[in-house]
Amino acid sequence: MDVKNITIAQAKKDLKDKKYSSVELTNAYLERIKKLNPKLNAFITVTEDEALHMAKEADAKLAKGEDQALLGMPMALKDLFLTEGIKTTAASRVLDNYIPQYDATVVKKLKNAGAVILGKLNCDAWAHGSSGENSDFGPTKNPYDTSYVPGGSSSGSAASIAADMALFSMGTDTGGSIRLPASFCNVVGLKPTYGRVSRFGIVAMASSLDSIGHMTKTVEDNALILNCTAGTDINDGTTPSAEVKDYTKTLKKGVKGLKIGIPKEYFIEGLDPRIKELTEKALKTLEKQGAKLVEISLPHTKYATAVYYIIMPSEVSSNLARYDGIRYGNDRSRFGDEAKRRIMLGTFALSAGYYDAYYKKAMQVRTLLRKDFTEAFEKVDVMITPVSPTPPFKLGEKTSDPLEMYLSDIFTVTLNLTGNPGLSVPMGFIDGLPTGMQIIGPHFSEDLLYRVGYTYEQENPLYLKKTNL
Ligand code: GLN
Repeated sequence: MDVKNITIAQAKKDLKDKKYSSVELTNAYLERIKKLNPKLNAFITVTEDEALHMAKEADAKLAKGEDQALLGMPMALKDLFLTEGIKTTAASRVLDNYIPQYDATVVKKLKNAGAVILGKLNCDAWAHGSSGENSDFGPTKNPYDTSYVPGGSSSGSAASIAADMALFSMGTDTGGSIRLPASFCNVVGLKPTYGRVSRFGIVAMASSLDSIGHMTKTVEDNALILNCTAGTDINDGTTPSAEVKDYTKTLKKGVKGLKIGIPKEYFIEGLDPRIKELTEKALKTLEKQGAKLVEISLPHTKYATAVYYIIMPSEVSSNLARYDGIRYGNDRSRFGDEAKRRIMLGTFALSAGYYDAYYKKAMQVRTLLRKDFTEAFEKVDVMITPVSPTPPFKLGEKTSDPLEMYLSDIFTVTLNLTGNPGLSVPMGFIDGLPTGMQIIGPHFSEDLLYRVGYTYEQENPLYLKKTNL
């Protein structure tokens, strides 16, 4: 069977109507993985036997007429999600033989919803990176052109969806790692509000910034997944009891009367003019659909990248200290250059005598960034910006210059500092390569982001533009 045009919403219907079984669907994805993984390197581990076993169980339930939100849906997890009995590497040689004894909360939730796990996805080691090239298991390639990067750090999560190697994928976003690859690979990616989805059982990068999200082909599919993953977790003290909505319910309400803010600081020098043009075009579409465009200001935006690159390595240096060669085997000599760079930067920023000048100052500016957003959302309902200042770049183009690489994160890191949710939605192609827009909302407004994204997608259904793989 051909899985190229299948969405979750469609598969749900087809499985119910017995057009095909979950085993058939799973086999179709496994075949694509076998065919395409040598080219794209999106998967680190493929769990064929487990997947087929889960698919069989799903078929048995379907035969009995049971209904679960994701029953029989083949999906894959960034290799940062702990999976009981299945190797979890964080794409680092430090953990290349680590087999967790338990499932992350989100993995448990997905299993309880009936999902079928196809395997573990490649990413930048420890989620450090913007291109997918910093993996100890080799770089992932962009399915739209394999000489280009797919974006990182959730590189395999994006590439696998773009190339139809899974129906949906899970990723993490600490500084854009879901939104950037989603944008580079023409898929929909959500970074939920901080705390909306439990972090328990996910390899920690920077704990005050880490958000757990997912990628899909369509906005509706994305909402279906959040329905299953959101919610409070006794094992993660940062998950508030804020109401978990049915995120599909308001999708079709349209954008009439909604105020969309355009933060002027995001349309700066350095932004590729073709991206600027596509974003303006997308905004015009939404205006035609009934939204009101309002120019706004987020005055502290220019400090966000600097603040992120102080706070993030500080927390990284603390989180990576647990890989001391005792608890997880393999000693720290296996850390790659990027992890070492961050451990050193973070340790320096936190050291006596420097703490006030770096970490404390960065935390003070973080408060100002939050204030920018709170004030802006008194004037508008959502904001729209580009996801990335440039289209996807060539493999190897930025690997020798870490600073240049860090600048890819200029439009995404702010939301991790402020905790706001952001949805990356495909908005067009530049020379055959995808690019996305970022829809930003107040805390816990994921339903609103989906509504805007869905409305836009009806006018511009870019998920139909497939790779030639
Ligand atoms: N590019 C960012 C970094 O390298 C993104 C990290 C992330 O979101 N996991 O820090």
